[in-house]
Amino acid sequence: MVQAEHDVAIQDTDRLEGRAALVNNVKAAVALAGAVRSTLGPRGLDKMLVDGDGSSLVTNDGVTVIETARVEHPTARLLISASSSQDKAARDGTTSTVVLTAELLQNSLELVRMGVHPSTIINGYLLAERESISELERVSRETISPEEMKSVISTTLAGKISSALASHITDIALEAAEILSEENGGDDLERLRVKRLEVSGGLSTDSTLIKGLMIAKTRVDMGTPRSSGEGTIAIIDGGLENAKLEMEAEIEVSSPGVLRDFHERSIANLRKSVDHLSSLGVDLLIVRDGVSDEAVPMLSDKGITSYRRFERIDLEILSRITGARIIRDPLRISEEDLGTFTNREEESIAGVTHTTIEGPERGALTVVFRGTSPHIREEVMRAFDDAMGVSFRMVRDSRVVPGGGAIQIHLARHIRAFALGNPGREQLAIEGYAAALEVIPRALAENAGLDPIDVVLDLSAAQASDQNNGSWIGLDATTGRKVRMDEIGIFDPLFVTSHSISGSTEAAISILRINDVLWAKQDPTTPDWKDEEDQED
Ligand code: ADP
Ligand code: MG
Repeated sequence: MVQAEHDVAIQDTDRLEGRAALVNNVKAAVALAGAVRSTLGPRGLDKMLVDGDGSSLVTNDGVTVIETARVEHPTARLLISASSSQDKAARDGTTSTVVLTAELLQNSLELVRMGVHPSTIINGYLLAERESISELERVSRETISPEEMKSVISTTLAGKISSALASHITDIALEAAEILSEENGGDDLERLRVKRLEVSGGLSTDSTLIKGLMIAKTRVDMGTPRSSGEGTIAIIDGGLENAKLEMEAEIEVSSPGVLRDFHERSIANLRKSVDHLSSLGVDLLIVRDGVSDEAVPMLSDKGITSYRRFERIDLEILSRITGARIIRDPLRISEEDLGTFTNREEESIAGVTHTTIEGPERGALTVVFRGTSPHIREEVMRAFDDAMGVSFRMVRDSRVVPGGGAIQIHLARHIRAFALGNPGREQLAIEGYAAALEVIPRALAENAGLDPIDVVLDLSAAQASDQNNGSWIGLDATTGRKVRMDEIGIFDPLFVTSHSISGSTEAAISILRINDVLWAKQDPTTPDWKDEEDQED
């Protein structure tokens, strides 16, 4: 009975089992990796992504490419989520993650064809992963000098934007990370506390960091001063408006004066709020909602400059830098809710008035992105996001490993030796894992127009012959020569590389575990991967 129900359920599906399922899944992964592999490294090429409506985007960023691609295959989507998780956790290394996952899968397919069971491969891969991570930590070292730190961030940006701009963006990101360095909070702090403001016009190298809040707004009353020095600030998470009649509220108009009374009472309330703020010595008032016309002169008379209609995130940044608490009701504001601002200034940029408010506290800031077109600004913002994400994490963990494929060559050598200590079939899987790691230097070589086989052999030999620091010899993709990576400043942060290795292994294993793929029938979106697979097997 149970079996029969099972069969009925299966009837509505196309089914791929066992090796056929694996072949199909590996193909999808390899196809996706093929789409981003050529962007890897400083000599990687750009991709132009064209949307259905003809709009286009040119990028060198692996994660942008695959997140934008409309991918149907479930395995490919698994890879995309591995790359997104890399992006979220480490902000870099997304292309490497996809490329390495596909290579791990491809090597496992060869092992399956030789008769090694997927569960043996999984065991071998897990052993190799654990060994790789601990070897990574052993090889890594702390970045000491600010120049080295700068090299790390610049390596992240290599190939994405011009080197002059990369250097400028790196400076901004490092300064921003330093400002946030003593804050408590998770990894998303770096997104929440840095306001990204786009201003059209200017060169992208005119992008700047502002140690405060910058916002495209002007003061409510132009009669109040355009700028001011230090003063007291209050932030209201609401409005300074007349009490309004709710839609359903009714006032019984029994005599002609009732409505007028209501209006007068609400004006009196406004005056009370303004008097209260004035008695506290408030100079600058920031309001999330509106400031009613009646309140404007009251505030100005008391020497209070006000701004209205701020978004919540802007209020939070202001609260951070001034120490003011965000309070709903103006009448409830007390002395300890107030903050201090050190400077306020309005200036016209590209024809739009912008206000900058600075405070004595650290912990939040604004980065202004300039550039003549939205395309340019977006690419710069994406580059900044990477640089900022990496800088912020580097301030917390500054360990680095050599880039330019050096660390993967070293790990491959190390893991091959480690394989020998594992008798049994796992040994084959561990060797397959070691070989997969070499895909990174291979791809870097290909993208630099070099022969990938020669480069990998050459680097391995060079590393093996230098007993002391061999593991730091890698490929300088810009010159095509093999060099010690610490000499030319090509470092990858340890957390990027180790997260990428773990993420790739995890993704590959989750795909290896799939033994059965059931495609719902009659679904027009089901892609035709199955036919290809029939020819292969
Ligand atoms: P990902 O999305 O994986 O970060 P990238 O396109 O940023 O992909 O490439 C990162 C790889 O490029 C890293 O392995 C890094 O070590 C390497 N790399 C960066 N600059 C150089 C260089 N000048 N020479 C060789 N390799 C480099
Ligand atoms: Mg990168």
